[in-house]
Amino acid sequence: MKDAAPQTIYLKDYRPFGYHIDDVHLTFRLSPEATRVVARMSVRPNAAYPGAFFLHGQDLKLIWAKIDGAEVTPDVTDAGLTCDVPDAPFVWEAEVEISPATNTALEGLYMSNGMYCTQCEAEGFRKITFYPDRPDVMSVFTVRIEGDLPVLLSNGNPMGQGDGWAEWHDPWPKPAYLFALVGGDLVAHPGQFTTMSGKDVDLNIYVRPGPDEDKCAFGMEALKRSMTWDEEVYGREYDLDIFNIVAVDDFNMGAMENKGLNIFNSSCVLASPETSTDANFERIDAIIAHEYFHNWTGNRITCRDWFQLCLKEGLTVFRDQQYTGDQGSHAVKRIEDAIVLRSHQFREDNGPLAHPVRPESFIEINNFYTITVYEKGAELIGMLKRLVGDAAYYKALDLYFTRHDGQAATIEDWLKVFEDSTGRDLTQFKRWYEQAGTPRLAVTEDFKDGTYALTFTQTTPPTPGQDTKAPQVIPVAVGLMSDDGTEVLPTQVLEMTKAEQTFTFDGLAAKPVPSILRDFSAPVILQRDQTNAERAFLMAHDTDPFNRWDAGNALARDVYRRMVTEDAAPDAAYLDGIAAILRDDSLDPAFRALVLSLPSEDDMAQDLADADHIPDPTAIHHAGEALRVAMAQHLQDILPRVRADMAINGPYSPDAKSAGKRSLGNACLALLSRLDGGAAAAAQYKAADNMTMQIAALACLLKIGKGADESAAFRAQWREDRLVMDKWFGLTVSSAAPQDAAATADRLTAEPDFDMKNPNRFRAVFGALAGHAAGFHDPSGVSYRMLGDWLARLDAINPQTTARMTTAFATWKRYDSNRQAMIRTVLKGLEATPNLSRDTGEMVGRMLGDTPS
Ligand SMILES: [Zn+2]
Repeated sequence: MKDAAPQTIYLKDYRPFGYHIDDVHLTFRLSPEATRVVARMSVRPNAAYPGAFFLHGQDLKLIWAKIDGAEVTPDVTDAGLTCDVPDAPFVWEAEVEISPATNTALEGLYMSNGMYCTQCEAEGFRKITFYPDRPDVMSVFTVRIEGDLPVLLSNGNPMGQGDGWAEWHDPWPKPAYLFALVGGDLVAHPGQFTTMSGKDVDLNIYVRPGPDEDKCAFGMEALKRSMTWDEEVYGREYDLDIFNIVAVDDFNMGAMENKGLNIFNSSCVLASPETSTDANFERIDAIIAHEYFHNWTGNRITCRDWFQLCLKEGLTVFRDQQYTGDQGSHAVKRIEDAIVLRSHQFREDNGPLAHPVRPESFIEINNFYTITVYEKGAELIGMLKRLVGDAAYYKALDLYFTRHDGQAATIEDWLKVFEDSTGRDLTQFKRWYEQAGTPRLAVTEDFKDGTYALTFTQTTPPTPGQDTKAPQVIPVAVGLMSDDGTEVLPTQVLEMTKAEQTFTFDGLAAKPVPSILRDFSAPVILQRDQTNAERAFLMAHDTDPFNRWDAGNALARDVYRRMVTEDAAPDAAYLDGIAAILRDDSLDPAFRALVLSLPSEDDMAQDLADADHIPDPTAIHHAGEALRVAMAQHLQDILPRVRADMAINGPYSPDAKSAGKRSLGNACLALLSRLDGGAAAAAQYKAADNMTMQIAALACLLKIGKGADESAAFRAQWREDRLVMDKWFGLTVSSAAPQDAAATADRLTAEPDFDMKNPNRFRAVFGALAGHAAGFHDPSGVSYRMLGDWLARLDAINPQTTARMTTAFATWKRYDSNRQAMIRTVLKGLEATPNLSRDTGEMVGRMLGDTPS
């Protein structure tokens, strides 16, 4: 049953639950279409907040319910049940029946390739049994699983097992969203870890028997690295006897941090050199770390309510970013994170889906697992750390762990810890959590009598529901360069708190060249009149690697933009600048590869829209292609030499240094392919002994309209490997010519191994179509209609993935009136779909600008 009238939930309405649940005993009798779940819990009235006894429950068949052993008849609706209960402690028991085999939404208990598994965040537990499914109700869980399967897992420590049953007990009180259960024919890749206090922990990565067994070693090493890192950097130790990870093929998210039993999308844990790219390895390392780090930032200290999601996610993303930087290069990691933030979070902030890091209302919380909550949330932690300094940051974190361990906390609690440990007033800083939108930071400069002045003005455009914004605290890291390329003032963090503010620097012999917002010290858009000569200067000389890259990026955008709007020739200053960087062997190859890469076509569309041009995706695509050819021609003497220097002899290793070399080598190959008709790429494809080199070569060929034979060979070679096939499906769409993108996606949906019920495969095809800017925005509107039709069909199966993928349309107001009209028709059609889910309904409504109900 769908809700007839979806309700908006507000942060301001928060009220604690009227009861405490001291412990929960769950018994599962597994059966694909008729699993029985018996729940027994000790309930105690919450004297401070008396309230009705309401338990969430969805798609549950109630068999019976008892209070203190006597059968009762609760009042059941499609949202849950209410029951008259004693005004004193009592025992609640209930048995329900559920059908994991037909649960295609992949929330609650469901089946994936014959394996039982769960996903309870945010509100999936209510599809398992009647329970107060809210994060502030924390309880001690004991679980018994009965089923004819060799492996039966749940949270916590194993208590016993026998033929067809297993019992688990988790001593740490937790909210229901961290509950997990797995049952299946699985094999373990085992490992061991000894914590800093000398406690031995058994580690396992569970996979299905077969080829996946050989893809666990990297994940296991990543897990051990993460455990060590959290001890060394944050002083946090693991707290159970066992830590299990299970790989699941059908999963809406990347992975889930259930206490002691992390469940992973297979694509985020399984890795081998033959089947995984360097990017896959880095992502897997980061996700394993992220989920492990949640054990403290998320599980031991959880969120009071879902509005506080950023409390666990922003902090944990920040921690996994630190971790990844420590494994390789902090500068490269910072650039990569800034690229993602600017491309996707700024885009979200700029459109109808903009919302604060801590939203104030929602209809469906699944729609707020966004890049704003996660990545901008992480930026806020980074700014706090920059403002208070490293030592004070770790001191505050220690206090946070001491003060709030075992609690469901809020952003207010988090900020209070910093206020108490540093003496700083964070009232104004809190606006970062409350105000949506990306602040624009305009800068002007002045130089007189040896004094240099920078004047900053901050403004944030209106966002849905927030017309005016108050000034925010912006840490602006600034360095000053002399015009011979030496640094006259090393990096200083200016703390901007007002709408307009001037900072002066005395005793300068000459007017300096400023390097502003070093290390991307705040998630803002810097607006500054800057000549390309100055950008080229900073690209060549800035001592801050982020700003050095950023100067090149700004130059690239300017060149690219003028190629689109004025049909201009590529600027020599840019081409000479990248040549100098490419030639400089003292620079990290990964950094050089980033300097060679151009802004995405979607980034350019946003740039043009910001400059009041209506972007034409086809023109942007052609300009990008022309710019790549010009780059290739300008660099043609250097490319083969650098590519040869990047060659690696010996066995594949996914370490950051080797990955950086492959990244630069393949960036050179992509440009070379524009000159040699794909000869070098075809040779690399033949010789490749790892996925990074193989798929990079294939991509180069497909991008220039060649590689049909290689693509067919790749398909045949990897047909049985679903994760490699996801890459092939995605690459086939993303490298199609714009006018063929929709037809290519359509053709792929007819392949026998296209399965719309598998989120990875659906995203491979339609995520690639939505990400193919010129193909998606084909003037005929064919891609819009195709995606709209598929999303309407998917919504009946999997609302969560459907809702997330509707964001492909979020930028619709940037485009011309024809495209807008076509997208509007598609969105209206989706909105009118019978039985549309609350998830998708909310997203479409927000994009159409409907007022919240
Ligand atoms: Zn997380």
